[in-house]
Amino acid sequence: MKLPTLEILKNAYGKYGVAAFNVFNAEQIHGVFGGSQLAEMPIIVQITPAARNYTTPEFLEGMISSAAKVYPNTEFSVHLDHGNYEHCLSAIDNGFYGSVMIDASHEEFEKNISISSDIVKRAHDKGIAVEAELGVLSGVEDDINISAEKSKYTDPDQVVEFIERTQCDSLAVAVGTSHGAYKMSGGKGLQLSILENIQKLLPGFPIVLHGASNVPLDEIEKINKYGGNISSKAKGVDEKEMLQAIKFGVTKINIATDLRLIWTRIHREFFSITPELFDPVIPGKTYIEELTKFVNKKCQSLKINNYEN
Ligand SMILES: [Zn+2]
Repeated sequence: MKLPTLEILKNAYGKYGVAAFNVFNAEQIHGVFGGSQLAEMPIIVQITPAARNYTTPEFLEGMISSAAKVYPNTEFSVHLDHGNYEHCLSAIDNGFYGSVMIDASHEEFEKNISISSDIVKRAHDKGIAVEAELGVLSGVEDDINISAEKSKYTDPDQVVEFIERTQCDSLAVAVGTSHGAYKMSGGKGLQLSILENIQKLLPGFPIVLHGASNVPLDEIEKINKYGGNISSKAKGVDEKEMLQAIKFGVTKINIATDLRLIWTRIHREFFSITPELFDPVIPGKTYIEELTKFVNKKCQSLKINNYEN
């Protein structure tokens, strides 16, 4: 069942994190919807501009609408991830999205506010929620490539003014996570004290963590065993740290890299172990099944009472 993004986030705040999965193809949409239905936890289905360019927006929207029929118990909303001004306008006009992210975080503070608040006005006119970003994440994902030197943590002192002036509904922050498979390889880890400070200033306001995949080492090792070459220095966010972040107001947790690592491992393994086979259905089916399990487990892991009793 499709729900407004803000309703999903408000229900979750302080109790559990809502996983937001980036999807590109039918197998991922199957796995994400199936896993959410098993977990009985809501999800946010995210579409990046790169995903829209890959299959066309019409294909993605058609597949998501079909998934909602195949998995009727899955509660979800559809979100545009990392939109620029034009992407956001097109998503707001098209009516399929419950929320958009306006990513003007690379701009100066004043310009970020003016671009973000403009999108908020247009989105709110149509009942669509807006995620804005303050601070700059490092990493590489799709069309985004920010070096560690250019990244900067969110400044809690700027957050209240930013929210008041933009009127955005949720805020993506830079607190040590990064995009892609080379997370935190040289960084200082998750900055929980920044989240704690932001929560004191903005109690109840949903915070969004980008680049929040776990990047399990055994997954990287299996990929590399079958011919991959991914740095084993990569390190994502561990489950206990994530739960602490959720207590400090993180409500939406963006996960893209973990889905890609599972895809890569299954396909490398398949082509390597059975080089005589060439049927896309075989690894595709395995991917749907493994992704369903992964999403189920991931969603369950984001309930903060997990470690309290
Ligand atoms: Zn992101």
